[in-house]
Amino acid sequence: MASNEFDLIARYFEQQKVSRRDVALSIGDDCALLEVPAGSQLAVSTDSLVSGTHFLSDADPVLVAHKALASNLSDLAAMGATPAWVSLALTMPGPDELWLKAFCEGFFALAEYYNVQLVGGDTTKGPLSITITVHGFVPQGQALTRSGAEAGDWVYVTGNLGDSAAGLSLLLGEKSTDDESLKATLLERHYKAQPRILAGQALRGIASAALDISDGLISDLGHILERSGLGADIEVDKIPLSPELCQFESDEIKACQMALSSGEEYELCFTVPEQNRGALDTALVHSGVKATCIGQLRSGAGIRLVRDGQELDWHLHGYDHFAE
Ligand code: ADP
Ligand code: MG
Repeated sequence: MASNEFDLIARYFEQQKVSRRDVALSIGDDCALLEVPAGSQLAVSTDSLVSGTHFLSDADPVLVAHKALASNLSDLAAMGATPAWVSLALTMPGPDELWLKAFCEGFFALAEYYNVQLVGGDTTKGPLSITITVHGFVPQGQALTRSGAEAGDWVYVTGNLGDSAAGLSLLLGEKSTDDESLKATLLERHYKAQPRILAGQALRGIASAALDISDGLISDLGHILERSGLGADIEVDKIPLSPELCQFESDEIKACQMALSSGEEYELCFTVPEQNRGALDTALVHSGVKATCIGQLRSGAGIRLVRDGQELDWHLHGYDHFAE
C-alpha cells in the first residue's frame, strides 16, 4: 500500500499505549505541550544512530529501535533522572512498512516499560538514520554530573563490562564461537542493553559524579577526570567481567582490555566519597543492580592502569567518531 508521510505518522507513531497526565498536547500539532512538575529540572539529551556507523543496514529493526532508545535513556540514567517524554526524528530511504512496524515494536516495548510517551518528531526521506531526544525529570539541584568528583573518591561501575564489544565482534565477523547459546547471549547483550534508570536514581545524593559508558570506560572515565580536574588509579583485576565474556575470550588480559575499551555498554561509571560507601551499598540493593569498586581518584591527571601494584603500559582508547 502506498503511504504518504502523514499516513505513516498516524499509522505508526500515533499508536502507542503510554498516555501521560503531564502531556497536554501530543503528536499532531506543530509542537507538543508538556508540563514539568514543580520542583523538578528538565533533563534533555539527544543521540543519533546512523545506519552503517551505529548499526548494520540489515540489522533487525526491533533491535535497532531498542538500542536507539536505550542509548538515550541511558543518558537520563547517568544524570539520575526519571524518563518522561521522547521525540523521534526518523530519516529513511522510503516508506518501508515492514521495517517501520518492527521498529515501532522495539521502540514502544521499551518506551512502555519506562512509561515514556512519544510526543513528536519528524519523518523525512534520505539515508537511514534515527535521532532521538529524551526528556526526564530530576529534583532541583540533585542531578548527577561529571564534575563533582574529588581526590580520594572511589570509582565504581554497574554490571559487567565488555559483553557489548564481544557481541559486536561476532556481528562484524572479527571473532567467532561454535557455541550457539554463547553467541546468542553476547549478541543480546550488544543489542539489548538495559538503561540503568533505577540505579541512577538511587545514586542521587550518594555519587559525586556519574556518566554512562557509551564510548568505553577508558574514554568515558576520562571525561569525569577532565571535568573534575583529577586522575585515577584503576585496578584492572577488579573490572567486572561476565562468565560469558571469559568463555568467549579465554585470554584474561585480552578480555580485560576489551572491557576497558568497549563502548555501548550503557553501564554507569560513578564516583563515591568514602563517607557515602555504606549508603551506596544499601541504595544499590534496592535497585537490584550490582556495582563494583574498580579504583580511586587522585590528584593529577589521566588514568593509571594498575595490576598487582605495578603500572601497566596498555595503550587503550575508546571510540571516537572523528579519530583519524
Ligand atoms: P511540521 O511540518 O509542522 O513540522 P510534521 O508534518 O513534520 O509537522 O509532523 C506532524 C506531526 O507529527 C507533528 O506533531 C510531529 O511532531 C509528528 N511527527 C512527525 N514525525 C514523527 C515521528 N517520526 N515520530 C513521532 N511524531 C512524529
Ligand atoms: Mg516537521
